[in-house]
Amino acid sequence: AKSRSRGSISVFEPEMDRQLRDRRVLHQDLSTAIRNGELSLHYQPQARASENVLDADVTGFEALARWIHPTRGFVSPGDFIPLAEESGLIVEMGEWILRQACREAASWPVPLQIAVNLSPAQFMHGDLVNLVHSILIETGLAPGRLELEITEGVLIEDFDRGVALLRRLKALGVRISMDDFGSGYSSLTYLQSFPFDKIKIDRAFVINLGLNPQSAAIVRAVIGLGHGLDVSIVAEGVETHEQLCFLASEGCDGVQGYFIGRPAPIAQYAALVGRVSSV
Ligand code: C2E
Ligand code: CA
Ligand code: CA
Ligand code: CA
Repeated sequence: AKSRSRGSISVFEPEMDRQLRDRRVLHQDLSTAIRNGELSLHYQPQARASENVLDADVTGFEALARWIHPTRGFVSPGDFIPLAEESGLIVEMGEWILRQACREAASWPVPLQIAVNLSPAQFMHGDLVNLVHSILIETGLAPGRLELEITEGVLIEDFDRGVALLRRLKALGVRISMDDFGSGYSSLTYLQSFPFDKIKIDRAFVINLGLNPQSAAIVRAVIGLGHGLDVSIVAEGVETHEQLCFLASEGCDGVQGYFIGRPAPIAQYAALVGRVSSV
């Protein structure tokens, strides 16, 4: 296809080919994104659940990766994280994200926590435990202030290895949280095999609160489950005051979502973290 010009083939090129080429280009661009300073982190607050969430209720932030592509503009992490996973780029990218997030959080008032997402591929490649350990030392962040969010995908590939890794991470003093709880199949098995510090109820259940009674029953049950296991429960995707009130009245521990605060550059939360970031 090299001899043909882009313009002339695009008319006849099957959609599949175009998509594949698109992905290839996007993938090349992603490999230079870190170097070119196109990646950044947004931060979304997590707060203790109460009917009126105040600044003082904020317990920490989740770091969420952002990619501003030089010509395409904003590319969603829902699109580029899977691409980075397939290509193995996630290892380098994940290291950048972890370091950046820990550096940032090390400057916040001490009780504030930072949550960082870990992909399954980061788990299976490289020495994650040593990486986390050295970044904590390098940034001076107390281990107890770092929370690593994993999905059950991490445990699906190689259960024994996954659990062993989680134990070693926990031994460093960091907290482990199960993300997207309820969205997969085996979550309950995993809860039995590993002492998670936190469970994040998937947004899908929160969205339907008030719309269908099943969701309310499920959310109530997961909160009860969490309390029984002595695990803190955080609801994701809280968008309305009604949802917040329901969760608070059911005894949900934490909340996160647009109603509390959107993911944004940390400068937007300067009042909460005490200053404007310099990193
Ligand atoms: P996630 O870890 O489940 O992150 C929560 C997602 O929900 C974020 O989407 C966030 O912006 C969005 N969100 C938060 N509150 C609300 C709300 O009230 N309503 C709605 N509709 N959405 C809300 P985002 O930032 O687009 O990230 C999507 C996914 O990409 C994340 O899902 C996570 O799986 C992945 N991701 C993002 N950043 C990273 C990262 O640094 N590393 C890794 N490995 N994955 C990441
Ligand atoms: Ca997450
Ligand atoms: Ca989630
Ligand atoms: Ca997710």
